[in-house]
Amino acid sequence: PLPVEQAEKIVLNLEALYDHPDSELEHVAKLARSIQQRRGDYNGRILSIRADDLYTLAVVYSTTPSGLIEKLEDFGVLVHDLQAFFASDAE
Ligand code: C2E
Ligand code: C2E
Ligand code: C2E
Repeated sequence: PLPVEQAEKIVLNLEALYDHPDSELEHVAKLARSIQQRRGDYNGRILSIRADDLYTLAVVYSTTPSGLIEKLEDFGVLVHDLQAFFASDAE
């Protein structure tokens, strides 16, 4: 089976990420801001990130990519179902 980090695209919920008061997410937020800047992608509510960047970020947090995904999961900053995410807007 594919490792967790390759099983699906890693998509961050930027609102949840940036509004989260927990400083544990500081490095993730920093990376996301930097990626937005480099892509010129300022208006999105979500951000798809590279598996490579997840790997690097896992090193920063002294964990594995799967471990980091679990952490992001716990903090509620991952988007799994884009359709559902955007559909919940329309309500
Ligand atoms: P680059 O890596 O030379 O990529 C140039 C362009 O190729 C990107 O322009 C994007 O349009 C496309 N591209 C490259 N890899 C991918 C990919 O895996 N998926 C998609 N959808 N497109 C891809 P863009 O977006 O304007 O980014 C400009 C530069 O900013 C990139 O040049 C890269 O150096 C950096 N960058 C942007 N996003 C990321 C990121 O998530 N991680 C990293 N490490 N660098 C990024
Ligand atoms: P997808 O990757 O499943 O993304 C679905 C929608 O989620 C996108 O609709 C966009 O509204 C949002 N989204 C996903 N990742 C990002 C992100 O990093 N930043 C922002 N601001 N929004 C994001 P959209 O734009 O209509 O794109 C529909 C589909 O078209 C995408 O599905 C993808 O398959 C493709 N696509 C769009 N732009 C690119 C691109 O630059 N490169 C590649 N390779 N595919 C793209
Ligand atoms: P995606 O655009 O659907 O791309 C899926 C995978 O195809 C990428 O996974 C990467 O392995 C490969 N790929 C797509 N375009 C390119 C390319 O131009 N060059 C290379 N070397 N590989 C490419 P990855 O890297 O894990 O990225 C996951 C998602 O993050 C991408 O999904 C895209 O939504 C976003 N992304 C990554 N890098 C960039 C970037 O530089 N610019 C933008 N706008 N989006 C990016």
